[in-house]
Amino acid sequence: MRTAFSPLQLTDPHLAEAERNLRACVHCGICTATCPTYVLLGDERDGPRGRIVLMQNMLENGTAPDPETVLHVDRCLSCLACRTACPSSVDYARLVDEARTHIQTTYRRPLGDKLLRWLIATVLPRPALVRAGLFVARLMGPLVSLLPGRLQHMARLGAHTQLSGPVSLPRAVLPNARRIALMPGCVQAAVAPDIDAAVARVLARRGIELVPLEGAGCCGAIVHHLGRSEDAKNWARRAIEAFERAGGAAAFEGVLITATGCSAHLKDLAHPFLDDPHWLPRAQAFSAGCRDFLELAEPIQREPRHLRVAWQAACSLQNGLKLAGKGEALLVAAGFDVAAIPEGHLCCGSAGSYSILQPDIAGALRERKLSNIALAQADIVASSNIGCLNHLAGPRVPPMVHVAELVDWVEGGPVPVALAKRVR
Ligand code: SF4
Ligand code: SF4
Repeated sequence: MRTAFSPLQLTDPHLAEAERNLRACVHCGICTATCPTYVLLGDERDGPRGRIVLMQNMLENGTAPDPETVLHVDRCLSCLACRTACPSSVDYARLVDEARTHIQTTYRRPLGDKLLRWLIATVLPRPALVRAGLFVARLMGPLVSLLPGRLQHMARLGAHTQLSGPVSLPRAVLPNARRIALMPGCVQAAVAPDIDAAVARVLARRGIELVPLEGAGCCGAIVHHLGRSEDAKNWARRAIEAFERAGGAAAFEGVLITATGCSAHLKDLAHPFLDDPHWLPRAQAFSAGCRDFLELAEPIQREPRHLRVAWQAACSLQNGLKLAGKGEALLVAAGFDVAAIPEGHLCCGSAGSYSILQPDIAGALRERKLSNIALAQADIVASSNIGCLNHLAGPRVPPMVHVAELVDWVEGGPVPVALAKRVR
C-alpha cells in the first residue's frame, strides 16, 4: 500500500516502522476472518484491514484523530490473530501500538473514559492497590449498583475475584540448580499467587530455581496497551534495573514471568526503546534473557489420569510467543486427555484491561468461548494466562486452572485451588 508520510515524520523510528508495515499490507483481507471483533460485529472498520486504513490516515495526518477512528482502534483486542494469519508478514502490533500512543498523546477523551483509564493504569500494575481495590469492592456490596457504567462493571468484577496473600516459593531440590529470576508481576500476584508457587515447584523438580527479582514490579503490558508508552517504559526500566542489580546475565540464566500475556510483552521489551541509545542495549539484553514457563518445563511422561482437559491457548501464547503446542504437549505428557476448543483462534475477550473498557464485546466473546468450551466436554479447562482464567471462570464452566498447577498436581503438588473449591 502506498503511504504519504513526510521525510521528517520518518525520522521517528517508531513511525518509520509503522510505515514499513503499512507498505507491506496489500489489503487482501485474509486476516479479516480471524479477527474476533470483525466476526462479532461484521463491520470492516472493526477488522484489521479497516483499522489499518483508519490508522494510516491518522498517523499520516499527525493530528488528533476523529472519534470514529478512536472507537474502532479502542475495540481492537491486540490479540494479534491477524498478524498470525497475514501472508505478507504485516506486523500489526507495530501499527496498533503506534496508533494507541498517538491517540493517548493527541486525543481528548471524555472525562469518564479518561478517569477510568487512569484508574486502570494506577491500580492494576500494583498488587497492593489491587488487593485494596478488591477489598473495597467487596465492602461496597449492593452499593456497587450505584456506580456509573463501566466503573460498576469493574467493581462487580472485583467483588467476584478471589483475593490471596503472598506465598513462599520452594527452592530447587537439585544441587547446582539453574537460576532464573522471577518477575513479581501485578494482578496475578494479588489474586492467584499459587500459580507462581506451582511454577516454582515444577521447575524445581527439573533443577531450575526461581529467585524473586527484588525491586521489579509489573512488566508494563497493561499500560502499554492503553497507549501510555512513557508509563510502560518506566515499568520496563524498573525491571531492567532490578535485573542488573541482581547480577544480570552473569547471575541468572534468564528472567521469567508466569502469565503469558506478560511474557510476550517482556520478550518485546526492547522495541519501545528504539529511539533511546542509553536504554536500548540494556532492554535488548533483558528481553534476550526472557523465558516462558513452557520453554523451561520439559514434559515428563506420566500415567494416564482419565481426566479430560480443554486447552484454552491464550492469544499471547498463540500469536505472541507461538508456544501453544508446547502447552498441549506438556499436558498430554502429564497424562491428561487434552481436548481442543472449537474456534480456538478467537480471543476470549479478556485482553488485559479490555474486559473493563469494552464490557459488551468482551462479554459476547466470553459467551462464545463458553459455548465452545461446552462442546469440548471437558472436566477442567487449562490456560497459561491469568487474564483468560479470571475472565472465563464461573459456575457454568469447568474449573479454570493454570497449566503449571495441573502439571504440579500430577507431580505430587497440591490440588489446584480451583479444583479443590469444586470438590468441597
Ligand atoms: S492479511 Fe496482511 S496483507 Fe492482507 S489485509 Fe491483512 S494485514 Fe494486510
Ligand atoms: S489484533 Fe485481534 S482484534 Fe485487533 S485487528 Fe487483529 S485480529 Fe482483530
